Amino acid sequence: MNRTESDRLFAEALKYIPGGVNSPVRAFRAVGGNPFFVNRASGSKVWDVDGNELIDYVLTWGPAILGHAHPKIIAAVKAAAELGTSFGIPNPLEVTMAKLICELVPSVQKVRMTSSGTEACMSAIRLARGFTRRDKIIKFDGCYHGHADSLLVRAGSGALTFGQPDSAGVPAAFTSHTIVMPYNDFEAVTAVFTANKDQIAGIIVEPVPGNAGLYLPKPGYLEFLREITAAHGALLIFDEVMTGFRLARGGAQERFHITPDLSCFGKVIGGGLPVGAFGGRAEIMDYLAPLGPVYQAGTLSGNPLAMAAGLANLQELCSRACESAENPRSHERGYDVYELLEARGAQLAAGMRDAAKSAGVPMQFNQCGSMFCGYFTDQPVHNVAEAMRSDREKFKKFFHGMLAAGVYLAPSQFEAGFLSTAHTAADIEKTVSAAAKVLRTL
Ligand SMILES: *Cc1c(COP(=O)(O)O)cnc(C)c1O
Repeated sequence: MNRTESDRLFAEALKYIPGGVNSPVRAFRAVGGNPFFVNRASGSKVWDVDGNELIDYVLTWGPAILGHAHPKIIAAVKAAAELGTSFGIPNPLEVTMAKLICELVPSVQKVRMTSSGTEACMSAIRLARGFTRRDKIIKFDGCYHGHADSLLVRAGSGALTFGQPDSAGVPAAFTSHTIVMPYNDFEAVTAVFTANKDQIAGIIVEPVPGNAGLYLPKPGYLEFLREITAAHGALLIFDEVMTGFRLARGGAQERFHITPDLSCFGKVIGGGLPVGAFGGRAEIMDYLAPLGPVYQAGTLSGNPLAMAAGLANLQELCSRACESAENPRSHERGYDVYELLEARGAQLAAGMRDAAKSAGVPMQFNQCGSMFCGYFTDQPVHNVAEAMRSDREKFKKFFHGMLAAGVYLAPSQFEAGFLSTAHTAADIEKTVSAAAKVLRTL
């Protein structure tokens, strides 16, 4: 595959941008080689600057749930841009957005918009601490909640990929109130609550962790987290930046029937523009300034272009599933979009498991709706320690083999893959047959 122009751009980027990229995983360090540069994307495909076409399972790390450059999102952004790119004073789209989020996610009674998932999680933690008047928070090993100081402890995603679960530049004192627990472990969490009576403000968790690959909660685990936080007057914070509006219209909390106190969103909620949000019970949200003592702000929060793109994305996710139902929460609504995503996810998982089996390569293919990850190990993966057992040399070869065959998977073992409604059954067949060939060479 010719990458002349990408290689030229990367060489130039290295001179002016640290590592040549604006977010570390994009540099391909975990798999080796140079990243490719993209200047066009549509539906399930991206095209690099040398004209190579790739089936994309990264989907800008999750937002493009309807595929790239969805016509309704493009039209909405164009129309909004004509009216001005930012006002810094309330605009009507913010109200439409807030109302829609509250309708789709019943645990959210009030919501505040931010410009990234990082800000959403950072603000939710501050709010939880302010509301409970407690300092300690529990996070899980391998979960990523953005790069705010107090959350950058044993974090997933790039922080894990590069073997730096703790970042330089974060004073120990800043993370001294962060308690890290193994995910899917019941006893460890119980012990921490016993040892830190009346000191824990809350638990922040990715309900289906997707930043160390992908693994699912054990049966009863999310219920357990809900019960133990409630019993100790601590808040349960679901970081649904990745899972929100993806694993179900109401996110993982709808799929697993859990009501958290606070939720964080990002990715899908912005339709490809920089957006995040956090919301929850009104009583808690009203602790935010200007009503309450917890400060939180943003020059571009609720930006009209970002709201237009996000709304177009969410409205399409609703309208395609509940054309006749006025109330999106109606029980009569259909599940067309999400049924389609489930079916594509199941097709990919079945195909990949078959391909690995016939190639005699040990693989755990974890999948939940339109999120997935294949680990090269014969042992099940339920947490980051088990994810680390994956043979990363095999992953590297697999990644590059798939790329050469025109399939772009996330360039790290510790990232989830995503499907969109634009991925056709034929895209997936092509992906599976490419995988069957590449796996035989490992
Ligand atoms: C991506 C992600 C974040 C951070 O969002 P940014 O928009 O990259 O700041 C936080 N939490 C989870 C679960 C994520 O997947």
